[in-house]
Amino acid sequence: MKLDSYIDAGVLASVEFANKLTPGYANGRPVTEINVLEAVREVVAIDPPSVAAVSEKDADGFIALAEQLRAIFIGIDGGDMDDAAEMLNRILSEHPATPYLAKEEGVWHLHHHPADAALLPMWTAICAEGLARMIGTQNAHRLGICTANNCDRVFADTSKNATRRFCSSACQNRTKMAAFRARKRAAAVTENKP
Ligand SMILES: [Zn+2]
Repeated sequence: MKLDSYIDAGVLASVEFANKLTPGYANGRPVTEINVLEAVREVVAIDPPSVAAVSEKDADGFIALAEQLRAIFIGIDGGDMDDAAEMLNRILSEHPATPYLAKEEGVWHLHHHPADAALLPMWTAICAEGLARMIGTQNAHRLGICTANNCDRVFADTSKNATRRFCSSACQNRTKMAAFRARKRAAAVTENKP
């Protein structure tokens, strides 16, 4: 199975919702001000009709969805797969994924949401189906939380060997620099010893 066949739009949207709509830390800085509608538009940008449908009435719903998605990443990262699976089943029972084929520019694509669903239930189903498939295809280990200091953003690991540890190259570089400086300090201490 090809990587991009299971890390699909639903998985990527889950990552983005959790990262853009929940407070915490990103790349060493606290995430405080969140422009909810702007963030939602960015996440759903792959689907122009969704972007056009984003409105204030769904803001709280998207924040709640993002918090649920983050909780699922935390559950998986902490090794509590049963809890994560139960959370996903609960969401899917309320917002069932409905697979159907849609022809786009002459090519058939498989979608996982009700064709005529409103914005929030549609994206809820898309995200839940994406994460559920990661668990169901034994790929949940590819869902993680950044291990850099002062960062709790989540990621989906598309690397061949599934060895990713950071949410971004910024966090990876930051961690490398910190380790480098720590080694230099340790070396300086050793040199100065009588
Ligand atoms: Zn990070």
